[in-house]
Amino acid sequence: MSERVLLQIKDLKKHFDLGKNKSLKAVNGVTFTIFKGETFGLVGESGCGKSTIGRTIMGLYNRTDGKVIYQGKDVHKLDEKGRFSLYSQIQMIFQDPYASLNPRSTVSEIISEPMIVHGLYKNKRERLEKVYHLLEEVGLNRDHANRYPHEFSGGQRQRIGIARALALDPEFIIADEPISALDVSVQAQVVNLLDMLQEEKGLTYLFIAHDLSMVQHISDRIGVMYLGHMVELTSSPELYSNPKHPYTKALLSAIPIPDPDIEEKRERTILTGELPSPINPPSGCVFRTRCPAAMDVCAEKTPAWQEIEENHYVACHLFEEKRQDSPSLKIKEKQHY
Ligand code: SF4
Repeated sequence: MSERVLLQIKDLKKHFDLGKNKSLKAVNGVTFTIFKGETFGLVGESGCGKSTIGRTIMGLYNRTDGKVIYQGKDVHKLDEKGRFSLYSQIQMIFQDPYASLNPRSTVSEIISEPMIVHGLYKNKRERLEKVYHLLEEVGLNRDHANRYPHEFSGGQRQRIGIARALALDPEFIIADEPISALDVSVQAQVVNLLDMLQEEKGLTYLFIAHDLSMVQHISDRIGVMYLGHMVELTSSPELYSNPKHPYTKALLSAIPIPDPDIEEKRERTILTGELPSPINPPSGCVFRTRCPAAMDVCAEKTPAWQEIEENHYVACHLFEEKRQDSPSLKIKEKQHY
């Protein structure tokens, strides 16, 4: 299994210092592993820390504590040369394809820029050939190379963003809400494109989204985050058919089902209350102020991260008893496989 590991996040914390002894605990002790060739979906409401994790992996934020190990190397201990080389292997696709493309540059200049920075290809002609090739790979064509971002639709702009992310032939792509800003009709096209590119190039994805319906079809495994913590992690089919954590259940019950008969009959878990502030998170389980199953212990003790069924991890006191009743179950706290 270990030779398949591409990235390990170990007890990662990212706190932003706000002065006056206050800090915003954006990520507060998160552990997971991403394997080569898989798509790992990271899901949670806005402000849960998922995008901060993406940026900390890229080295755009320094960690507060914990480790980010990429291909066996701690990314925050790399020297300048090591980081530069890391950026050629890890690329990002951003949520807003318009804001992330320089409006004054042509598509060709936008896609060539990383090649120039990294000194790839001998001359302009070779770079241009690569640009043409990338445009065709993402479903555009070479005539688009001399146009400007404002001449394209949202879906086409996201395709340009994907072509730019592929310019250095990376092996790992962090897609930070890549379809959230797009029309529903275009979302599936972009997801299909990412799927096809993964198959062709053997890419690994970290796919960040705020809604479980967006990651269902593309993800092999999914991690659910709430207020800086990972609360559940398992395979995509298992998460949708057998969710355990009350927060995951609430997220799933918010997804509309297209069949009106099923939709009318099914039970819903409606979350009440506001998302607490990550500056002053609740004691014990951070979800307790909105959890329909909260108990006294939830305010006193932080639930342990544990494997309650094979490859199914949850942090919730509801499952602690089950753990004690099942000594045969191999509990691997703070590991994700
Ligand atoms: Fe709810 Fe308690 Fe489980 Fe937290 S630990 S999710 S508050 S039951």
